[in-house]
Amino acid sequence: MTRPTRFLIHLDRLVRNCAKARQLHGGRILAVIKANAYGHGDVACAQALQSSADGFAVATLDEALHLRQAGLTGPIVLLEGVFAAAEMAEVVAHQLTPVIHHAEQVKGLSGLKSNQKLDVWLKVDTGMHRLGVAPEECGTTFESLRASTYVSSITLMTHFANADGADAQTLIMPMQRFKNATQGLTAPTSLCNSGAILGHSDVRGDWARPGLMLYGIDPGAPDVAPRGGLERVMTLESAISAVRTIAPGESVGYGGVFRAQRTTRVGVVPCGYADGYPRSAVQGTPIAVMGHSAPLIGRVSMDMLMVDLTDLPHVGLGAAVELWGDQVPVEQVAQRAGTVAYELLCNAKRAPRI
Ligand SMILES: *Cc1c(COP(=O)(O)O)cnc(C)c1O
Repeated sequence: MTRPTRFLIHLDRLVRNCAKARQLHGGRILAVIKANAYGHGDVACAQALQSSADGFAVATLDEALHLRQAGLTGPIVLLEGVFAAAEMAEVVAHQLTPVIHHAEQVKGLSGLKSNQKLDVWLKVDTGMHRLGVAPEECGTTFESLRASTYVSSITLMTHFANADGADAQTLIMPMQRFKNATQGLTAPTSLCNSGAILGHSDVRGDWARPGLMLYGIDPGAPDVAPRGGLERVMTLESAISAVRTIAPGESVGYGGVFRAQRTTRVGVVPCGYADGYPRSAVQGTPIAVMGHSAPLIGRVSMDMLMVDLTDLPHVGLGAAVELWGDQVPVEQVAQRAGTVAYELLCNAKRAPRI
């Protein structure tokens, strides 16, 4: 393997970030490793976290089975539940924990064999209006689950639509709805994603559900250092694979979106949108070359991108490049591409993970 582009995954940092989440939240940690652990590699991350997390959360049955096949034991919560009753047999066989987010799904349990039992999480819609039973349905759904011979335990959960910002007021209404909906029901609870763990210390449950923060990224403001001393788990690195000098007036790359104002030294980096670097990144998006910041120029192509090396005359072929990591926060690349770190991380592909 000679192409220098790769994702370095610092699993030691992942483990420390998980400890940080537990320190901030307390109770048990359900490590969210859906979407291939936000692009970091699901099995490697799950194995690294096995003794520091109390369970894992994924979005699909396939993701859960991938973890079980790799030998991971312990709770695995299916955050979107099952998509069809036919999935229930696998869910039971592999002792997965489905989220029940719709009263219809309770009926799906009655197709199980009489000796089969599973843990479930019951999701209440407190204002996101995506998944979850309505607050006024919560009590009756809870009672029918408790009456079911197939259910061994119930955990009550909700998911916030607005936990990332600095506004302390945003969780007051959803918390009020959750308290009203679950009043008198005796069960463990799970409320907080990364934003709530980092920014709302008054909101806590029995289980935390950190995702992004495990990977060292703060879902809050992209231009400030992450809260909580989080450490970035992923570095996307490469090296300069070609250098040329062009005259003023010449353009670079597809569509000629960059036109040189001066004699310009152009460096080629063999990393493109097929590796997950966003094509939508604007001119001037920062790239670290040998520890110096240099601007992206030209349109990002499938396999390559270009960087302006004019102000770094000592930099040549083979020079170390960081596309994101400790020197170039992935949130800043995301911002220049009109998106969020979540999307860039879970698009990490093609280049090997090390
Ligand atoms: C993805 C997800 C999380 C994790 O969210 P982060 O913002 O990455 O911490 C938690 N809960 C649910 C229901 C999710 O879908």
